[in-house]
Amino acid sequence: MNNLFLIEKNLIGGQWVDAQSGATLAVNNPATDEIIGHIPNCGAKETTLAITAAERAFDSYSRSNLSERVSLLNNLHDALLDNHEALASLLTAEQGKPLFEARGEIAIGAAYIKWFAEEIRRSKGELIPAPTNDRRLLVTHHPVGVVAAITPWNFPSSMLARKLGPALAAGCTVVAKPATATPYSGIAWGKLAEEAGFPAGVVNILTGSSQAIGGTIMASPTVRKVTFTGSTEVGKTLIRQSADTVKKVSMELGGNAPFIVFNDADIDAAVEGAMIAKYRNMGQTCVCTNRFYVQADVHDEFVAKLQAATEAMNIGNGMDDNVQQGPMIDHNAVAKVEEMITDAVNKGGTVISGGERHNLGKTYFQPTIITGATADMQFATDEIFGPLSAIFKFDNDDEAFAAANATEYGLAAYAYTKDLARAFRLSNELEYGLIGINAGLITTVEAPFGGLKESGIGKEGGSQGLEDYLETKYTCLAGL
Ligand code: NAP
Repeated sequence: MNNLFLIEKNLIGGQWVDAQSGATLAVNNPATDEIIGHIPNCGAKETTLAITAAERAFDSYSRSNLSERVSLLNNLHDALLDNHEALASLLTAEQGKPLFEARGEIAIGAAYIKWFAEEIRRSKGELIPAPTNDRRLLVTHHPVGVVAAITPWNFPSSMLARKLGPALAAGCTVVAKPATATPYSGIAWGKLAEEAGFPAGVVNILTGSSQAIGGTIMASPTVRKVTFTGSTEVGKTLIRQSADTVKKVSMELGGNAPFIVFNDADIDAAVEGAMIAKYRNMGQTCVCTNRFYVQADVHDEFVAKLQAATEAMNIGNGMDDNVQQGPMIDHNAVAKVEEMITDAVNKGGTVISGGERHNLGKTYFQPTIITGATADMQFATDEIFGPLSAIFKFDNDDEAFAAANATEYGLAAYAYTKDLARAFRLSNELEYGLIGINAGLITTVEAPFGGLKESGIGKEGGSQGLEDYLETKYTCLAGL
């Protein structure tokens, strides 16, 4: 593959390097199973070097003028958009999502960088009224220090944007570890940061052993914050490991989103929202619908329309025009969806659409709909992360609210209704960090993104997205 950003090196302290051992890992194109390149298989030694480089760079970068950092971030935003097409096709090649979705991911990544360049200017301190006249009480914000960012394969570019943006705006330096399945979109941020003019060591990118890199990051007292997006299981491990050095952690973890269709909903709009909330990125997003709850009176109409829309989708290599569904990330992901379908059918579910591997072979899977879903089926509790719609039927609102909240996850939830009172009840009672009412796609840079319960700690985006990268200090000026 010929792409300016297919860089088979890591960036440490301003140098593009291989693993010290020379070891590499192959990276596949999930659409073709072809190897598109190799990346350094780095471990503890390289991680220590990257942390040291970030620590050195922090000394001056954290003291840089705000206006300089804003201008560097604006350069980074422009560099990203100047290379929009190359970055999008690289993303599709390593991840599989259709090109139009990859273009959208690069665009929202750029928007996050811009947002934090703006937001840092509004990060104000405070002068608190003092209890006595001879004192002034100041509250000020300071960059937290060296930040480690660990990101998943499903949004390999924008998940890093949401971390680099606030970290670099705040004056932090970064050691980033992209997912092994999709490393190139992460490594590309190193080249873009260089192009934008960030000093050496401010952005460091490592690929390789997650245990060795993660372990070294977590044990390091120099790394003051870890920002992680990925599975709840790995997130819990990192939270445990953070205790020894009392690091700040931000955790964007797994989800199990309910999508509730009430009997007063605009069913066409609900189907349109469902298609985005379910099938975007082949169902492999943390905010993807996991469970549809449809009120009995509108169940058959909703299911028939969802089935028609699902079966109209064009499946193929995401690089090709008009493709709406690409391959899944790997064979394990396909096997997991198959296992969930078998489990559901054994427990009385009915496959009304799809249900099998696609005749394109490899990691392609037919978009699938199962009706008659029940709470004992695996997908009621586990994240599907695939193009499988599980439809549960409900009779009354209380039943829907209770079922929607019956999970340890709390990332995203969706509901369709025209009833204002119901909409407010949904906003109050759904135990989710992100709630879409009459909308299936709600992520936007201006709003805080993050989960409740076991879906995470902290927010990305919005004004809240900056707070985790800043320490707050209180200074008492006495004897005035
Ligand atoms: P994952 O297996 O948890 O991996 C995420 C990242 O953590 C990868 O870079 C991985 O490296 C690394 N990692 C794995 N084990 C580690 C360890 N012991 N120490 C340090 N790092 C470690 O998740 P994934 O399969 O890539 O992504 C899918 C998951 O992410 C889903 O659960 C999804 O819901 C969640 N997600 C959440 C959000 C959100 O905003 N809440 C957004 C997107 C995705 P390797 O690639 O080298 O294994």
